[in-house]
Amino acid sequence: MKIAVAKEVLEGESRVAIVPDLVGKLTALGYDVAVEPGAGAGALLSDDEYVEAGATVSDQATDGADLIVSVQPLPAATVRRLREGTATLSFLPAGQSLDLVVDLRDCGITSFAMELVPRISRAQSMDALSSQALVSGYRCAIVAAGLLRRFFPLNMTSAGTVPPAQVVVLGAGVAGLQAIATSGRLGAVVKAYDVRAAAAEEIRSVGAQAIELDLETLEGSGGYAREMTEDRAARQRELLTPYIANADALITTAAVPGRAAPQLVTTHMVEQMKPGSVVVDLAAESGGNVEGSLPGQVVRIGHAQVWGGANVPSQMPGPASRLYAQNIVNLVTLMTREGDFAPDFDDEIVTGSCVTHERQVWHEPTRILLEGDQS
Ligand code: NAD
Repeated sequence: MKIAVAKEVLEGESRVAIVPDLVGKLTALGYDVAVEPGAGAGALLSDDEYVEAGATVSDQATDGADLIVSVQPLPAATVRRLREGTATLSFLPAGQSLDLVVDLRDCGITSFAMELVPRISRAQSMDALSSQALVSGYRCAIVAAGLLRRFFPLNMTSAGTVPPAQVVVLGAGVAGLQAIATSGRLGAVVKAYDVRAAAAEEIRSVGAQAIELDLETLEGSGGYAREMTEDRAARQRELLTPYIANADALITTAAVPGRAAPQLVTTHMVEQMKPGSVVVDLAAESGGNVEGSLPGQVVRIGHAQVWGGANVPSQMPGPASRLYAQNIVNLVTLMTREGDFAPDFDDEIVTGSCVTHERQVWHEPTRILLEGDQS
């Protein structure tokens, strides 16, 4: 059985799906590992390291592969030349990639989406959303500290005392908690807010002050947040305004599954911030938590510099690839029986993450979207 590691083609994608250190785990399962030349270059991993680890490196790596692993979905042109029955494992935002899903279905590809791996305890080691959010959260805090032209920590010196920076974090999921912890380790005073009931305790557990607003909590299914009504959103904005006005750095990481990111901060709120303040919007690519933020750009709103995240995990490609590769290896291990790639379609991790199989769209929300598209 052959696993191919694809070279990423999306501009700005520097990660790779398997790192040399983990090639041995796949060969131990019985796979031949073939890597496209330069696949690890963005993460500073050379072809020689893959060869030393037991892989082959070849332009034809994907030819005849049973499974192709990548970070971003394979391009349609690649999908169309795969033989029927080939499996793919990658991030695959199916609802936003309907044309590609149709190609995968019609070419008889068995595709799995890393973001659909169910968030149950048994699948924690395969949870690429969490591993990449960890990287993003850390990076957001470092970017905020880098853009801010002042100290994060308190400094008491013979020349006087420099007060610590005030950081506000909105959204305290995996990325937000990591941004809080990292800002705190750098010495900032951190306050954070999230709509979920459990969030206040989680915020305190990483050393920050939980902002308590006089608003109902918003819990959807599976411990995720729900979308806000416009009334609640307006009230939340009003109550958060003084906290934001007082912040030197604002980091936003809020998301609601299956929806555009909620807009939590208006330009009017950013305009209340002090000269030199910094805003980091991790959600800029999915609609933005901050009005006016742009992915991949720093824009000025009022006195603040507003940094919009664009493929943030890829900005730390080495660790992001290492963590993602471990998620992939764990999922491949689950899907391997006696040296064969043989996913068990009675296992909820397999069915939950499957997008297409046997010329059908397995992922129900995507199938419904497609049917709507065709009617
Ligand atoms: P996410 O990326 O979907 O969202 C980020 C955060 O934004 C969430 O905490 C959410 O509550 C918050 N948010 C949404 N709307 C908001 C608003 N209007 N104002 C402020 N905050 C808002 O979240 P995530 O990091 O994937 O984590 C979501 C949940 O899943 C958490 O409860 C987390 O503990 C849980 N989780 C479980 C597992 C597991 O069981 N394997 C793994 C990771 C996360």
